[in-house]
Amino acid sequence: MQLIILGPPGVGKGTQSLLIAGKLGITHLSTGEILRRAVAEKTPLGLKAQKIIDSGELVSDEVMVGIIRDAISKEEMRKGFILDGFPRTINQALALDKLLEELNYHDVKIIYLSVTKEELINRLMGRGRKDDSIETVMHRLDVYKEQTVPVKEYYNSKGTVFEIEGMGSIDEINSHVLEVLTRVVSEKQDAKIVT
Ligand code: AMP
Repeated sequence: MQLIILGPPGVGKGTQSLLIAGKLGITHLSTGEILRRAVAEKTPLGLKAQKIIDSGELVSDEVMVGIIRDAISKEEMRKGFILDGFPRTINQALALDKLLEELNYHDVKIIYLSVTKEELINRLMGRGRKDDSIETVMHRLDVYKEQTVPVKEYYNSKGTVFEIEGMGSIDEINSHVLEVLTRVVSEKQDAKIVT
């Protein structure tokens, strides 16, 4: 199973993705984590990405598609993966469609986590990440609205997006996500959920 988790910054995609990946035995691929690691290791990518991340802007589609292409082309990804933080623009979504087709991945499920704007800002301000100052948070939300909301609309127009309310405790939200996935899986019998 190939999962894509969508939703605004701060909604809990990272937390939920990790839990889902553990339960399904698939790989969690967070583009934000990949970039933060590159920044910490001061690689050429990291040096280029740091300013962009700190300002709340998006790293170029070309760079991001390259990262995802390298990551999902690996043999170990055949067991499944969950993309967290990608795609974030329509161009990324179109490039991902092509990549998935090329690599013969045809069991893609899209999950969308939603939460109120007030709750988002509270959560983002409470994380203490370097790119979580109020100005950057507000900017990231604007960028999300302009560039990433269309990605959700794109997937909606293509088929089913499983929409889950990201309110409540981490465990409650996770149960809900797994419930939805179990339902989908039991209809198709193509993945196993370990509880
Ligand atoms: P995240 O951890 O997903 O919130 O990502 C942190 C930051 O990394 C974002 O604010 C962007 O600057 C950058 N980033 C992560 N994923 C992408 C992506 N798919 N496209 C462009 N920039 C990204």
